[in-house]
Amino acid sequence: MDKLDLKTLILVTADTIAAHAEELTRLDQAIGDGDHGLNMKRGFEAVRAEADTFATKPLPDALKAIGTKLVMTVGGASGPLFGTLFMALGKEISAEPDRANLMAAFGKAIEAVAARGKSQVGQKTMLDVLQPVHDGLLQGKTGSEIADVADSAADATVPMKALRGRASFLGDRSIGHMDAGARSTALLVRAVTETIEGQA
Ligand code: ADP
Ligand code: MG
Repeated sequence: MDKLDLKTLILVTADTIAAHAEELTRLDQAIGDGDHGLNMKRGFEAVRAEADTFATKPLPDALKAIGTKLVMTVGGASGPLFGTLFMALGKEISAEPDRANLMAAFGKAIEAVAARGKSQVGQKTMLDVLQPVHDGLLQGKTGSEIADVADSAADATVPMKALRGRASFLGDRSIGHMDAGARSTALLVRAVTETIEGQA
């Protein structure tokens, strides 16, 4: 991971979200209000529209700008949370991060999301993917192994009972469905890790 091609990362993540928007909507229809696919697509298309501007910034500034854009455009509960993730990552990461800095920054960013959402692992949210991904990084897993960790972690939200977000209003009826934000997080993780590995 010498030099991150940020523009490619932006385009690939936006493509992934666009390609899976209907799936994310279906997941959110089952135990939420069905807007997650559109929310995420709107946000990542807004980031795509400014990809050239973002990509010329140093990595910390680019991530902060992307986070701000996501807060402004995604909406719902997930907008401020994904926005916080990217903004906090931008605050903690160095311009040319090594693996240690990336792990530390990602850990802080997850803490920031948890603080913002007043949430923790095990409550059937995006945190249930973010935390295992961080653990995988700490364990020295490769990019494709981490993408698989993220997919498994999203699958593992199916039997959970939602304790945060709209799905929590359903109580036990939230059991048996994948959390939409966990799925979108896993999609982003795969897009990022595969792109970085492809560039390495
Ligand atoms: P809304 O719930 O407002 O309709 P979205 O549908 O865009 O917003 O996003 C829902 C997703 O946001 C959930 O699937 C969950 O992963 C995540 N989420 C919601 N509330 C929280 C929270 N308090 N902490 C962490 N993640 C949350
Ligand atoms: Mg929703």
